[in-house]
Amino acid sequence: MKVIYLSSEVVPFAKTGGLADIAGTIPKSLQKLGVEIIVFMPFYCIVKENAYPVTKTDIQFEVRIGDKIKYGFVYKGFLPDSQVPIYFLDNEQYYGRKGLYNYPGTTKDFEDNSERFIFFSRGVLEVIEKLNVYPHILHCNDWQTGLVPVYLKTKYAGKACFKNTKAIITIHNLAYQGLFWHLDMNLTGLEWSLFNWKQLEFYGKLSFLKGGIVFSDLITTVSKTYAEEIQTPEYGEGLDGVLKERASDLYGIINGIDYTIWNPESDKFIIANYGMKNLNGKQLCKKALQRKYKLPERGVPIVGMITRLADQKGLDLVVDKFRDLMKAGLQFILLGTGEQRYQEFFQDYARTYPEKVAVKLSFDERSAHEIEAGADMFLMPSRYEPCGLNQLYSLRYGTVPIVRNTGGLADTILDVRAEPLSNGKANGFSFKEYNSDLLLATIIRAMDLFKDKTQWTTLMKNGMAQDWSWERSAREYAALYKKIVKDE
Ligand code: ADP
Repeated sequence: MKVIYLSSEVVPFAKTGGLADIAGTIPKSLQKLGVEIIVFMPFYCIVKENAYPVTKTDIQFEVRIGDKIKYGFVYKGFLPDSQVPIYFLDNEQYYGRKGLYNYPGTTKDFEDNSERFIFFSRGVLEVIEKLNVYPHILHCNDWQTGLVPVYLKTKYAGKACFKNTKAIITIHNLAYQGLFWHLDMNLTGLEWSLFNWKQLEFYGKLSFLKGGIVFSDLITTVSKTYAEEIQTPEYGEGLDGVLKERASDLYGIINGIDYTIWNPESDKFIIANYGMKNLNGKQLCKKALQRKYKLPERGVPIVGMITRLADQKGLDLVVDKFRDLMKAGLQFILLGTGEQRYQEFFQDYARTYPEKVAVKLSFDERSAHEIEAGADMFLMPSRYEPCGLNQLYSLRYGTVPIVRNTGGLADTILDVRAEPLSNGKANGFSFKEYNSDLLLATIIRAMDLFKDKTQWTTLMKNGMAQDWSWERSAREYAALYKKIVKDE
């Protein structure tokens, strides 16, 4: 089975969110299951600057963008600690700048994003042909690669190397659709006849993601609950109709996490390692975290959040009840980047309540590990959450998740009320309605249980013992690959 895995970001080369974690990990697990897999991503300038070795190949390619020919070069490397090859497509004009999709430090998209990802999507097909690979599957991810299935089934349909190729697209977050001005159709080189409401048009605009959904043989998303939710108007972001139509081809596969990176027993970023059998190290991590953020070294629970500061993450609920939380006897540490209004809100509180609130407004891997290890609870009250990774890291670190029951959070976090703790399944706290009173009540409920050290320790250990590894997800993807190739 030959699979080409396409992603606009891949850990450790370039990352803005969970997609990069997935793309940097799952191909390794798939390779171990016997899948011949090759990864492709753009050659951003950050890839050039970081320390991971890549070499220039002698492959060159051309992509027609509108009436211009653009030239590309190809670099090659391997996913670290693996034999998985990764090819980087280079074009200085498109990727030789800081930032992946938007101007660094802002939420302003690059004006030429459609061109940049048309180039990548067609470029990949050109390079596959030059490599003489005859893939069984092109596995696309999100809008940045949404046009790949469209090209595969139209312009590239007659090519020998794609004769038996199927396309899968995985939706990591339906809110990001790659919507562009309709005249960008001219840049794609695709027939204008495809620009209709059943295919590439989304309310007068060109939608890369819709193209990917319509033209792929299978669609997956990153949890079973999210796969159901996105077929409803509430979560469908306008694409619920299209997704409902493809319901029989739509699968939910929960993400996993990389336990070589996220494991308190071996984590290099934390002051003391620990595991289920010896939790002392976690106390040391907690103290170190309090010292670092200048919080008093008290036994009160620390609630951590590591998040993009975006509405999706349920921050309005937190903001709404923050004053009450200040009275509740907890410490709150936030690591995040994003919307200015949230940055200012939390900064103001950190200034007013320096003994209770600490914020770090940057993207910082080390701090993320320190918070996962040192906090007692992890807050994720998302409005929607396709999968979510931080609740899975938290489970392994014995940091009990408090989540809203949606998407991947619903599939991974079982509230203590649902089952006796002794069954080993209950692993956190959750609430259903998107409502700040419920958020507050759930945090208070967690704080109450925190006082009972025996029960709390059992709860921590329940989460720490669970297996959310990539191997599990990879087996499900491999089964799907087999299914569509066999259906041929
Ligand atoms: P999303 O992809 O929607 O942002 P996920 O929970 O799926 O949310 O993945 C977020 C990833 O990004 C996690 O690996 C998380 O630890 C990381 N992350 C988010 N914000 C920061 C930050 N400020 N510093 C370090 N890591 C962060």
